[in-house]
Amino acid sequence: MSRSLISSIRAASRLAVAPTTRRPCILPITKTRLNQCSSRPFSVTAHRRLMETSGFSEEQMTVREAILKICSNFDDDYWMEHDQTETYPHELHAALAKDGWIGIALPEDLGGAGLGIAEATMMMQSIAESGAGLAGAQSIHANVYATQPVSKFATPDQRERFLKKIISGEWRTCFGVTEPNTGLETLKLKTTATKEGNGYSVSGQKIWISSAQVATKMVLLARTTPLEEVTKPSEGLSMFYVDFDLSQPGLEAKRIKKMGGRAVDANQVFFDNYKIPQDALIGKEGQGFKIILHGMNAERCLLAGEALGLGYAALKKSTDYARDRVVFSRPIGQNQAIQHPLADAYMHLEAAKLATYHAASLYDRSFPDHPKHDPSITTHAVGVACNSAKYLAAEAAFTACERSVMSMGGMGYAAEYHVERYMRECFVPRIAPVSREMIMNFVGEKVLKLPRSY
Ligand SMILES: Cc1cc2nc3c(=O)[nH]c(=O)nc-3n(C[C@H](O)[C@H](O)[C@H](O)COP(=O)(O)OP(=O)(O)OC[C@H]3O[C@@H](n4cnc5c(N)ncnc54)[C@H](O)[C@@H]3O)c2cc1C
Repeated sequence: MSRSLISSIRAASRLAVAPTTRRPCILPITKTRLNQCSSRPFSVTAHRRLMETSGFSEEQMTVREAILKICSNFDDDYWMEHDQTETYPHELHAALAKDGWIGIALPEDLGGAGLGIAEATMMMQSIAESGAGLAGAQSIHANVYATQPVSKFATPDQRERFLKKIISGEWRTCFGVTEPNTGLETLKLKTTATKEGNGYSVSGQKIWISSAQVATKMVLLARTTPLEEVTKPSEGLSMFYVDFDLSQPGLEAKRIKKMGGRAVDANQVFFDNYKIPQDALIGKEGQGFKIILHGMNAERCLLAGEALGLGYAALKKSTDYARDRVVFSRPIGQNQAIQHPLADAYMHLEAAKLATYHAASLYDRSFPDHPKHDPSITTHAVGVACNSAKYLAAEAAFTACERSVMSMGGMGYAAEYHVERYMRECFVPRIAPVSREMIMNFVGEKVLKLPRSY
């Protein structure tokens, strides 16, 4: 099915002429779906979107239009209700899986679309921007980024067995790195995987694990050699792709009550001699940190895209409101005190957009199998670009959400105007997967060559 997705994308790219003449329903996977699209016309321009799209590739625009079309079936009320009832948006995951989108950045030989993180970032941005916000995006994103290191470092047999069901939507994955006692000091994490019989026994605790209530698999980072016995703290960690089976002894997940993105669960996870087979190990034992970094840089791009989507969605709501709401006999948007902060927020989103898609492109082109591979792109350059993009997009989204709430007065605070939900969600990209402060520490030390501050 996903093979036809990529063929359709490529076919659509060939067919598409100028953006103004592009057919709205451009990504039918089958002829039948094309007919359905024609009989149920849809246009993303029916709802004016704010982001300037000049300069994106045909593939990115095709992804954007197809995703916005799918997401149009999930309206603001759907997301408000799922937020209020803390109910998982299973239907969005199913709809995207049905059309092959979960495997957007996974290889074609496994049924994926074989596109890059630049296209996957556009997909995640479009989900958030549709009004699904961070909650909608979070219900999908681990399946896209956490599977990257599995795809790149697993054996052919592992890839076949582990990834096909993620792509089809039968399985979902979660990502288990953060721990309660070590936080951002990842290299000190305490969860251990100890050799036992034909496999390993895992003990320890993880925290903030998104989607653990619905996941079938977990990307797990655990220590296989004690910290005292390695020369560098980044050694002795191993990456596993484990069955996440809460019915098995030694595994428990407890939901955390949280501020935003309430439709998607976040959890404390407890391992107590949880047994995993040898085959769950991805790549070489002790090399897990290097391996998982591939997922982490990809995640920064996706999350930057999600933040952008949230920011544009908020600005769309507030500018529509500012045009319509009349006080003192004129639209509030005619007042510069309303108009200028919104214009400023827009420009920050546009700047962060450039940083985000630059980072995603560097990430993709750093791999030798990419058609536009550039061997001069270093791991360092990718890391700097991905971290910077995540920082800038998260800050731009925060500014857009905060100003949207404030410019709408009391209605900015009302659930049914949705920007309060976006406001609650926009903190996540500022905190996770790495905080603003740690990104500044990284840039200060590794780019500006200032003394390490911590
Ligand atoms: C909604 C949500 C979903 C998440 N989903 C996942 C998931 O699926 N999987 C997963 O593994 N993790 C997940 N996380 C965890 C997330 O990645 C961490 O919360 C994040 O990395 C921060 O770690 P911490 O909360 O332990 O903060 P801490 O490490 O306790 O830090 C607390 C604060 O102190 C600051 N600080 C610490 N040290 C320094 C220093 N040296 N200099 C300056 N400031 C410093 C930090 O910047 C931060 O602001 C999620 C988090 C949230 C909120």
